[in-house]
Amino acid sequence: MAIISSNVGDNDFSLQKKELRLVDSKIISEEKRNNNLNLARPVTLQEFIGQEKLKSSLKIAIDASIYRKEPLEHILLYGQPGLGKTTLAFLIAHEMNTKCRIATAPAIERPRDIVGLLLGLKEGEVLFIDEIHRLNRLTEELLYSAMEDFRLDLTMGANRGARCRTINLPKFTLIGATTKLASISPPLRDRFGISQKIEVYTNDELKQIIINFARLINLNLDDEASYNLAEMSRGTPRIALRLLRRVRDYAQVVNETNFISINLLTKALNSYQIDKKGLDSLDRQYLSFLNLNNIPTGLDSIAAGLGEDSSMIEFVIEPYLIQIGFLIRTHRGRLLTDLAKKYIDSENANF
Ligand code: ADP
Repeated sequence: MAIISSNVGDNDFSLQKKELRLVDSKIISEEKRNNNLNLARPVTLQEFIGQEKLKSSLKIAIDASIYRKEPLEHILLYGQPGLGKTTLAFLIAHEMNTKCRIATAPAIERPRDIVGLLLGLKEGEVLFIDEIHRLNRLTEELLYSAMEDFRLDLTMGANRGARCRTINLPKFTLIGATTKLASISPPLRDRFGISQKIEVYTNDELKQIIINFARLINLNLDDEASYNLAEMSRGTPRIALRLLRRVRDYAQVVNETNFISINLLTKALNSYQIDKKGLDSLDRQYLSFLNLNNIPTGLDSIAAGLGEDSSMIEFVIEPYLIQIGFLIRTHRGRLLTDLAKKYIDSENANF
């Protein structure tokens, strides 16, 4: 990370110039573990902005299960990272007046991990499994009877000495989240009574999410600044909130203010090397990689070349580049448009 001296407004501050990655799987895992983020999480379904159809069908399912005094059906939520799947799991548990236990599939390595999780549940509780498409086969098979009959069928011992044991479980609701619906095996997918897609957000919805969060952290944004930030957030609340936090750092450290004008927003984003199109360093690496390759290139080669997760590239980086007319997906691979090449040439110093 280079240290530069930058002239900012009337003040001449020495500022650490940082590259802000809008999309970063490592940062996302850290953010998910970070309790401070809970501040940003809406607490009731009403406070959850957007996704109106999804919210109303969830509300009906929740009210029906409360009316029948039965556990809510298992729910599968799918959509790109940062759209609110974890948040919704918490909200659903809140509406059901119960607790939500959280696990991620890659951390459930051995059958005893999932057995421990299931045995630790109390009647009516919610178990949220993130990245559920990454469950291993043995764990997945144990889940089948747990989801369907609230029962665990365990085989103890091996060969001739093997015995089957059945353990009854409390009635619970499994909420699975995935970015890759197609990677979930049909037997697992079929065991979810409710399967819902989370759509990307409109700029107006993101603007509202930004304004609500700004209020929580005592920031004031002018109208143009909040809309501008929303436009750069790729339809994703997590990106909007991350950008807002960095802009707040800049405003407080450099300008000693809690008011974000459009002018200050532009300077802050410049300082984090987010360019006028809202592209960050990873977008630029992606564009440079394709530009150098200069032939249609497959997703896996790009992911390997950039050392990035392919779902991040496919669901977060590429949709934005397609939206601004920089990228086309052909059956032979990804290709840059002339518009993108012109932009790379014009911004050469930054690439
Ligand atoms: P996912 O599980 O889909 O990766 P999260 O639930 O972790 O996404 O959401 C990322 C961040 O965005 C969280 O801080 C969350 O509170 C916020 N967020 C997501 N959706 C909304 C929404 N509809 N309204 C307000 N904040 C939201």
